[in-house]
Amino acid sequence: MTTINSQKRIAIIGGGPGGLTLALILQKHGIAATIYERGGVEGNAERGGSLDIHEDSGQFALKEAGLLEQFQAIARYEGEDFRLFDKSGKVYMDEVAEEDGGSGRPEIDRGDLCDLLLKDLNPETIRYGYKLTEAIPLTDGRHELHFDNGEKEIANLVIGADGAFSRIRPLLTDAKATYTGLTMVELHVDTNAHPDLAAFNARGKVFALDDRKGILAQLNGDGKIKVYLTFTAEQEWIDTCGIPFEQPVEAKNQLLTHFEDWDDMLKNYIRYADDTVLPRRIYMLPLGLRWERKPGVTLIGDAAHLMSPFAGEGVNLAMFDAATLALAIVEHEDMEQAIQTYEAKMYDYSSQSAQGSDDNLKLMFSDNAAANLKGLFDDLHAQFAEQ
Ligand SMILES: Cc1cc2nc3c(=O)[nH]c(=O)nc-3n(C[C@H](O)[C@H](O)[C@H](O)COP(=O)(O)OP(=O)(O)OC[C@H]3O[C@@H](n4cnc5c(N)ncnc54)[C@H](O)[C@@H]3O)c2cc1C
Repeated sequence: MTTINSQKRIAIIGGGPGGLTLALILQKHGIAATIYERGGVEGNAERGGSLDIHEDSGQFALKEAGLLEQFQAIARYEGEDFRLFDKSGKVYMDEVAEEDGGSGRPEIDRGDLCDLLLKDLNPETIRYGYKLTEAIPLTDGRHELHFDNGEKEIANLVIGADGAFSRIRPLLTDAKATYTGLTMVELHVDTNAHPDLAAFNARGKVFALDDRKGILAQLNGDGKIKVYLTFTAEQEWIDTCGIPFEQPVEAKNQLLTHFEDWDDMLKNYIRYADDTVLPRRIYMLPLGLRWERKPGVTLIGDAAHLMSPFAGEGVNLAMFDAATLALAIVEHEDMEQAIQTYEAKMYDYSSQSAQGSDDNLKLMFSDNAAANLKGLFDDLHAQFAEQ
């Protein structure tokens, strides 16, 4: 039997929300782990925008990490405001969040969330500038980890928290992240410079859906609106569409032509955008992915169950996985039993979220998407009212 507490060589690959939460909950229980992160300390602020943290998953993990009250003090409950339009500007939904916490999904910027987690983490736990290049299984269940800075480490338990294109995943499965058929172009609007759009956007999210496209906007804590222009497109579209993404002015002009017959206020999300124009393809792992158990290795977060962002679950699941795995490690002296307990639970809840996310993707980019999405919310509200 390989025990955790006697050896304590736990390596977490990736210092995103999942990896940080895992290390912090282990630390709270006196179990040491090391995070190896390819980027620098500033990395988390740069990737991704405002995230809604769900009560039963992300907030549960924060509670286990001893951070729930601190999170609640900085979370933006008003960020749950939601407005839904079609391309003509017709309003389908205009929800204003309750000040007392609304549906229990307050917002926080990704950078602030990671800062919160990092603040309590022993600084020696995380090593920046360690990009894993290879993990070699040894005969006794341990793994030899190779990093691009030339360093090597041996770990009894290696946890892949290294996101969509995990280098740990191939140790467990041949499954690869595949393109969902959607490409997003990320833009940023400074609300201070554009009060008309700030008023239109209100305090949270705006979705405009039509023609199998979308303008998805969310106000971030720094006063900027992150805008995701979303296209149903071939995987090569970024290279073949002819939009010069590296020339922001021309790129925005050409992006506008894709929304020519959309309402003027909606087009302001493109007209007012600053010079950051970031195209990105959206990928997912196969729904319900499982793997054959192998000793000394597992996955959490996007590495385990990458899904499109349309259920708003990605970060919540990454943190919930972290809590579930950490608590299993605390509970079971036997490492393999801990992993098995975690994986069984994770397969169950993550497959439901992945299915939900995929259903939402199909609905949001269907014909009459705004009406269909409103119908879905109406059904959910009715179910909620019955409970
Ligand atoms: C456009 C967009 C919008 C989104 N919106 C939402 C939303 O509203 N709500 C939500 O819940 N989720 C959302 N998500 C998803 C969410 O961002 C992810 O699910 C979440 O960040 C997953 O956390 P993670 O810790 O598993 O992985 P990541 O956040 O991807 O972190 C992985 C970490 O591993 C590091 N890493 C990678 N490879 C290596 C390596 N070889 N060696 C060492 N380190 C490595 C990376 O640098 C990174 O720090 C969105 C995603 C996208 C793309």
